[in-house]
Amino acid sequence: MYIKVKRELCTGCEACVQSCPYDAIVIKGAKAEITEMCQLCRACMSVCPEGAISEVKEATDEKETAQGRGVWVFAEQREGRIAGVSLELLGAGRGLAGKLGTELSAVLFGGTGHDALELIRWGADRVFHCDEASLQAFNDEPYAALLSKLITEQKPEIVLTGATPIGRSFFPRVAAKLRAGLTADCTSLEIDPETKNLLQVRPAFGGNIMATIFCPHARPQMATVRPRVMKRGTYDEARTGEIVKVSAKGIASRTKVVETVKEVSELAINLQDANIIVAGGRGMGSEKGFQLLLDLAEVLGASLAASRAAVDEGWIPYRHQVGQTGKTVSPKLYIACGISGAVQHLVGMQSSDIIIAINKNPDAPIFNVATYGIVGDANEIVPMLTKKIKEVKG
Ligand SMILES: Cc1cc2nc3c(=O)[nH]c(=O)nc-3n(C[C@H](O)[C@H](O)[C@H](O)COP(=O)(O)OP(=O)(O)OC[C@H]3O[C@@H](n4cnc5c(N)ncnc54)[C@H](O)[C@@H]3O)c2cc1C
Repeated sequence: MYIKVKRELCTGCEACVQSCPYDAIVIKGAKAEITEMCQLCRACMSVCPEGAISEVKEATDEKETAQGRGVWVFAEQREGRIAGVSLELLGAGRGLAGKLGTELSAVLFGGTGHDALELIRWGADRVFHCDEASLQAFNDEPYAALLSKLITEQKPEIVLTGATPIGRSFFPRVAAKLRAGLTADCTSLEIDPETKNLLQVRPAFGGNIMATIFCPHARPQMATVRPRVMKRGTYDEARTGEIVKVSAKGIASRTKVVETVKEVSELAINLQDANIIVAGGRGMGSEKGFQLLLDLAEVLGASLAASRAAVDEGWIPYRHQVGQTGKTVSPKLYIACGISGAVQHLVGMQSSDIIIAINKNPDAPIFNVATYGIVGDANEIVPMLTKKIKEVKG
C-alpha cells in the first residue's frame, strides 16, 4: 500500500505539507509529492481540500499478509547486554513455532556476533543481525523503519518483543506502518489448534478479567510481553543456527542519540533481576515505615518495592511500583508488608517463588497467594525480623 497524489487535482496549496508529522511531503513544480519518509499515517488525506490524496492498495497486499511464515522475537540489547525478556520470549516463541511447525528467528539491532550466537543458543534457528554503529543505541525511527522493512521482506506470521520502554516505544510504530494489530502486555500466548491464530491473553478492565485477543486477518500478529512473565527456554551451548547479516543502508532518521545519561537512584531498584524483594504498602503508614523496610532490605541484600498506594502517598518513587501499572517481578522471595493484595498488585508479583505477607488484617486477600503469612503490625514485626537476621548473620 502507498499514498498517492492525483496531480491533476492538486493545487499546490501546501495544506498537506503542514499536516505531515514526518516531513514526507514536498512541493515540486507547484504539486505535492510524497517522499520515502512517508509512514502511511494518512494525516494528509483528511486535510487536502481538493481530495487529491488517497491510499492505493496493491493487489499483493492481502495475498502477501496471508502468506506469513515463522515466529520472530525482536531481541533488545542495551549497552551490549541482551534483555532478559528477549530470552524469555525465545522460550515462549520456541513453543509457538513448534505448534505451528515453523522456524523461530530473532532480530538483533546492535550488539556483537557473539550476542547473535547467544540468541541461537537460547533457542533461535536464525538471527537477523544488523551490527551497524548507527543502531547500537536505541532510536525509535530507524529501529521502526528497519524492522518494518525486514518484516515486509520476510513476512513472519508472529512478531514478539518485550513490553519494556524500548518495546513500548517503537513496536506500535512498526504495527502502524504495517497496518497490523498489536496486543500490549500479554501474560500468555497460545496457538488456536483449529485456526492457527495467535491467542494473546492480557488483563483488561483494570485487571478484573483476562481477555483473549486474536487478529484473524492482518499479518504479522504482533504482541509485547512484560519481563518475567514467561520462563526462559533451555540454554544449549552446542546449538547451531544461521546468522543473516542485515544492512541499515537507506534507513533515514531525523533524530540522533547524542548522549545517554544513567539515572542514579539512592535505593537499589533493579527489581526485575532481584532474587529477594521487600515490598511495602499503605499499611506501612509513612516514609518512616519505609525506612524500616529499607533496613530489612539491606540486611537481606534485597531490592525495595511498593504498592501503588504507597507511591501515591509519596513515600517512595514510582520506579519502585510493582503491579499492573508498575513492574512485573518474579523473585525467589517477595516479602509484602502492609499490602492488601489488590488484583492490580498481584498481577505484578504472584509468580514469585515464595511470598511472605505481613498484614494486621487476617482476611487481607494477600494471604490467598502467600506461602507464609504473619498477622500483626508490620511496623513492629519488620524491625524484629531485621534484628533477628542480623544476629543470625553475625
Ligand atoms: C487501573 C489500575 C491500575 C493499578 N495498578 C496498580 C499497580 O500497578 N500496583 C499496585 O500496587 N496497585 C495498583 N492499583 C491500585 C490497587 O487497586 C490498590 O488500590 C493498591 O494496590 C492498594 O495498595 P495497598 O495494598 O498498599 O493499600 P490498601 O489497599 O490500602 O491496603 C493496606 C493494607 O495494609 C494493612 N495494614 C494497615 N496497617 C498495617 C500495619 N500497621 N501493619 C500491617 N498491615 C497493615 C491493611 O490491613 C491493608 O490490607 C491499580 C488500580 C487501578 C484501578
